[in-house]
Amino acid sequence: MLIILKRGSGPQEVESVVAEVRRVGYRAHVSEGEHTTLIGAIGKGPTPELIEHFRALSAVQDVIPISKPYKLASLEISPKPTVLRWDTGATGGGEVMIAAGPCGVESLEQTLTAAHYVKKHGAQMLRGGAFKPRTSPYSFQGMGQEGLEILAEARRQTGLPVVTEVVSPEQVDLVAAYADVLQIGARNAQNFALLQAAGQSGRAVLLKRGMSMTLEELLMSAEYILAQGNMRVILVERGIRTFEKSTRFTLDVSAVPVLKSLTHLPVWIDPSHAAGKRDWVTALALAGLAAGADGLIVETHPDPEKAQSDAAQQLNEAQFADMMSRVKALLPALGRRLTRALEPA
Ligand code: PEP
Ligand code: MN
Repeated sequence: MLIILKRGSGPQEVESVVAEVRRVGYRAHVSEGEHTTLIGAIGKGPTPELIEHFRALSAVQDVIPISKPYKLASLEISPKPTVLRWDTGATGGGEVMIAAGPCGVESLEQTLTAAHYVKKHGAQMLRGGAFKPRTSPYSFQGMGQEGLEILAEARRQTGLPVVTEVVSPEQVDLVAAYADVLQIGARNAQNFALLQAAGQSGRAVLLKRGMSMTLEELLMSAEYILAQGNMRVILVERGIRTFEKSTRFTLDVSAVPVLKSLTHLPVWIDPSHAAGKRDWVTALALAGLAAGADGLIVETHPDPEKAQSDAAQQLNEAQFADMMSRVKALLPALGRRLTRALEPA
């Protein structure tokens, strides 16, 4: 349920209501609005009596049940967009962030080359998989911990925060020791033990939509992370399975405005896995941003043809630079901006 405090309530009133929420065994989520404070009280189905109990408190203006099955992810609980920040910039609330890099970390040289050029062309985050969830057990599975060390070196040299995939709950501590953002991939988007472990890691989480998941199911998966007290979640539309075979997946562009009408969390587009072919990646990236996406995660490789995974869809440097120049040209027309590094304190 959502508890709306009376206008002008101070910290003492907020604290007393939060204490009461906790006393009845609920979790409290405070959201300061311009004129009012909202307290989300999260627990098992509040009874009419409990709602009345909170309505009767002197600091409380009104109590309304949250209608959606996801609570912490809902726009009802946090009407303002969530903005996530790193040293290189932010995503959400009009700030657009680009994460780019190879599908998989294959060598120090390959990763450093990509890291330096994605930064040069305006990306604010480096992507690269060290643990790869492959459809075939005989395909390249990633470099594992050695790959994580390479990513850490790339961060040291470029200052770019790193997003990399974690594929099992047992690996979360290891990956979180190296990564700034834990990626949970499409094939694991309903691995609830993994979502919970990622929620406990204290790292931001980039959660891809499963290829046959509804948007409500995606939000329920995000809720598993948020329910661990970790509010730093990015949702990613990366294409869904349809009957169309010319693209690898069908980018569901409508997911962006729909999600934005339901949640405060940043929504990104992954045009690479949707397209499956490099020629179409830029068009899908621009479409996603035009639809309102707060960021992109894009695959680019110094020598895409030699890539050990997803060779057909990775942009080369020139194609990535071209995509970035189009992104920079488009964003002002949309009233948003490519994020910049935060001013040094
Ligand atoms: C990836 O980002 O390389 C990846 C495996 O993506 P997805 O989980 O969306 O297929
Ligand atoms: Mn990939």
